[in-house]
Amino acid sequence: MSEPTRYSTPPIELPLDLEREPDPAEGCAGCTELAAVRGRARVVGDWTTVSDCNVYLRRHPGGH
Ligand SMILES: [Zn+2]
Repeated sequence: MSEPTRYSTPPIELPLDLEREPDPAEGCAGCTELAAVRGRARVVGDWTTVSDCNVYLRRHPGGH
């Protein structure tokens, strides 16, 4: 009698860093706008724009 150990599996771990969305830097108008655009794009399923916004958000330290 062997029981499957499915219940002990950890939550889904995403191997790709791409799935981790950058947070907007506080007090940065550019980041705030990008986060807003990203939010709207996600709602309509515009993943190209979502990913573009993430790229720009990551670029914050170097300027937008
Ligand atoms: Zn910024």
